[in-house]
Order: sequence, then structure tokens, then C-alpha cells
Amino acid sequence: MLTAKNHNGSLVTLFNIETKEKIIEMKKEGHYHCPCCENEVTIKAGKMKVPHFAHKRNSSCHAFSEPESEYHLLGKLNLYQWVSTQYPATLEAYIPEIKQRADILVMSGNKKYAIEFQCSSIPEEVFIQRTNSYLSAGIFPVWILGEKNINKLGQNEFSLRHFDWLFLSGSQESPSIVAYCPLKHRLAKLHKIIPFSPRTAFALHSHFPLSGLSFNDLFEMQSGVFPFLSRWREKRRAWSFHNGKSANWKDPFYRNLYINQLTPATLPPEIGIPVPGIHMVETAAIRWQSYIFTDTIYRKEEGRPVLMNEFIQAYRNRIDMGHIRLRVLPLISEKDCLFPLFGYVSFLLSTGYIEEREKGYFKVRKKVEIPRTVAQAVELEKNFYYVHQNLLQWGK
Ligand SMILES: [Zn+2]
Repeated sequence: MLTAKNHNGSLVTLFNIETKEKIIEMKKEGHYHCPCCENEVTIKAGKMKVPHFAHKRNSSCHAFSEPESEYHLLGKLNLYQWVSTQYPATLEAYIPEIKQRADILVMSGNKKYAIEFQCSSIPEEVFIQRTNSYLSAGIFPVWILGEKNINKLGQNEFSLRHFDWLFLSGSQESPSIVAYCPLKHRLAKLHKIIPFSPRTAFALHSHFPLSGLSFNDLFEMQSGVFPFLSRWREKRRAWSFHNGKSANWKDPFYRNLYINQLTPATLPPEIGIPVPGIHMVETAAIRWQSYIFTDTIYRKEEGRPVLMNEFIQAYRNRIDMGHIRLRVLPLISEKDCLFPLFGYVSFLLSTGYIEEREKGYFKVRKKVEIPRTVAQAVELEKNFYYVHQNLLQWGK
């Protein structure tokens, strides 16, 4: 923590006290207390350290989790210094009605924001509980992830842990993850996040020096298209190849393929495609789309009707059975879990596999061709991506 009460009960912040002498003097001055639990805290300062207060051993303070890393302290301080030049802000503000302490509380007009700079993982329930408490107090939470947590695998490719996904915020159509690096003094954003699997995702990555940004820029949406489709295909091909050999038949996904006389190596390319809303599903696209496909149009002949309701039922059933898992996205307030399904149905429409007769009422226009051999699967895949690349490289 960077703020504590001195013996007079006034708040002392360590952020602009940099000299060693001053720290020594403060230490001599005596006792400091935690503004939240009133327990005694001591000054910690070293050569390379951000001076800060820390509870004595065995503290049971609810407002501060310790130890705080240097990375976290520095980030909190930088973000505070940055935002406080734009709006009235309080560092480590304690909010009594919800018994919660925000890293930074910002007052922008009549709106209140709580900035949480989070560098270490906390349990999902704690994340959700803190978020909901802020909202219940009329405070809009702004969670910023420590950038060191983001694991970049390639130009536009990332490995995101379950915890990192909690930071997804903004609109359900185009959410982003905001991260900050106190060592580079820069803010990073991941936009257009397209997961291939529960952990691997493609995304547009942009960063800006903090000094060049305003607080409101945090909420700006970024648009742009980035070339991820060739990597997507590579990963999908690698998946087909690998999983064809090591399929676990106890897994409901493989069992479902087996029942339907399909194999990973010869799945049609129409299964496992990037669609809008895909970030809302934790289950890999290949899996969830295979369920939708086999449960709806797979066994229907040309000309047969298929209802929007059948797609919805299939999706809901698989969710209930635990075969399709949706992501927990506490920062996206208005979300429709059907959004990714609509993305897939609209793909089937645009590619002419189904056509709409009336609202919610379709008919099968042409059947998806099922490859019989691996060689044929390779050929179909090539042709499919050649014909539909504009549609699949969405982000128009
Ligand atoms: Zn305390």
C-alpha cells in the first residue's frame, strides 16, 4: 500500500517522497496505521524498491492483499499519477459501504470509476464479487491486467489463461482486454480476440505510451483487420492430423463424431471456422460447431426444413450437457449467449448451405460434402478457404 494514516490521523502517501533521508525521517516519526483496518503498518523501502507501507505479520486486513509486488506498486502509482492530471482521483480509496478498497477511484463528471490494476491471479469468484460490489455502489469497475501476464506466442497470437479472459470488457461485439506495463510505461490493448481453443487466441495487439493517452481512451474501440486466417488454418490442419491419431473415445466430442461416422482427419472445413461472437464460447470452435452441425443439418436432405429453434435447442442442450462451455465474462454486462450461434447460422446462410424462407424458418439448400479420405479433406479445405476467405477473414 502507498497510503497510510500517520499519528495525527491524516493520510500520508509515499509516492512523491523519493529521497532516502526523507524515508528515514518518516520512519523515525513513528507510527502509521492502515486506513482500512487501523492496524499498524511499517514503511518498506530499499535501494531499488518503490517505498510502501506493509502490515505487520499475521495481519488479517481484508482491504489489502500482501505482499504487493514492485510491479503492482509501480503500476498503481503510475496510473494514479496519469489519471489524476485529468480527473479528481484518490489512490487506494476505501469505499466503506462495500468494504472494498479500489487501487484508484476516479471521479469523471458525475461518474465514478474504480481502477483495479491486477497483476496476480485472484479466484474467479473474487473477481466477480468485487466487480458486482462496485456496480452495486454505482461505481464502474475498470480492470487493467498487468501486461507481463499476457503471453504472446506470435505476431497476433496469444496464450490467455482462464483468468485473463475475465478482463474482457466493452461490447459483446467487439470487446477488448486492457493491460499496462509499468516498466515500459505503456498501455496495451488486445482487440478482435478470436480464440482457436480455450487458451489460444488471435488478436490485434496495440500499445501506446501512457503519456499520450487520456482516461477516456481506455474505452475507445479499435477497428482493423489483421491477417490471422492462414495461422488459423495451420492450427486447424495440425489439430486434424494430431487428433486423428490420438482421439480419446471417452470424450463426448469424439464419441459424437464416431456415432455420426465422422473423424477428426476428415471433418469438413465448414466445422471449425472463426465466426463473430466466438470469444464468448470457451469450447474450441471445432468442437462446438461439430455439435451444432451433427445435431441439426447433417442428416437432412436437400430441401428439408430446418428451424432457427432447432439450432437454438441443439446449442442449449449441448450447453446443459456440459459439452459446450460459455466463457464467464463479468465485465460484459449486456450479452446474449446465442450471439456465436447466430454467427455460425449466418455463415451457413451466406455460404448457401441453408436459405431462409421466412423469419426463423430455413431449408437445406445444399449438403455439406463430407470428405471420404484424408486427401479429399485436404482438397476440400483448400478450396473452401479459397472461395470463402473474405467471409472468414471477418472484421470488415
Ligand atoms: Zn489493513
